[in-house]
Amino acid sequence: MTNLFEENAYIKEIKTKIKSLDMENNAVELENTVFYGKSGGQPGDIGQIIIDGRKIEVKDTLKDKNSIINILEDIGGIIIGQTVIARIDWQRRYKYMRMHSALHLMCATIPLGVTGGQIGYEKSRLDFNDPDKQINKEELEIKINNLLSKDNEITYEYIDSKILDNKPELVRTMSVKPPKIDGKLRFVKIGTIDFQPCGGTHVKSTNEIGPIKIGKIENKGKMNRRVNILLND
Ligand SMILES: [Zn+2]
Repeated sequence: MTNLFEENAYIKEIKTKIKSLDMENNAVELENTVFYGKSGGQPGDIGQIIIDGRKIEVKDTLKDKNSIINILEDIGGIIIGQTVIARIDWQRRYKYMRMHSALHLMCATIPLGVTGGQIGYEKSRLDFNDPDKQINKEELEIKINNLLSKDNEITYEYIDSKILDNKPELVRTMSVKPPKIDGKLRFVKIGTIDFQPCGGTHVKSTNEIGPIKIGKIENKGKMNRRVNILLND
């Protein structure tokens, strides 16, 4: 299976075939896919699978080791090997791409350990180990918006996972293990601002994110200062 979103997060639709079926869970696996499987705090894609003009809703997409599994509203009549059009809900996915890249910028702006995170449609968040309450809402908003006002290119690099033996600080999240494929880690690079292993989908440039707002900063325990971020649209 080729996960096309890893190289190019902007592909909205492809023609492919049904690779496997799981009748019990209304689940299918495609030969190639554009659907992102829920992982690393990013929700799975929803969308449609179209077979001979019949549109079947994809209710969720999960990740199972290296497989991407689509949960369908109805699996009846589908057979292995059938040609399908796989189409993601682009509006929703694009919002998640902008949110995910914005969270990387927040992470780069705050020099503290990340203890958790979640990407959402209305707002996203990162949790930081901030016992001394160093994070200042107004300052943070200005710093991130300053980075967003410039065209910082976002690119991917595949590097031997052994790099982490010498540079463990490259992993910013204390709670999520970066996905490893064939001994390699996918790194997301934002200009000269941020460089960290991540399997998620991102925009091509920071200028696609637009100005952000920092929402509530909540105290969720000693190691969890929760910072919410919102997009302008
Ligand atoms: Zn990420």
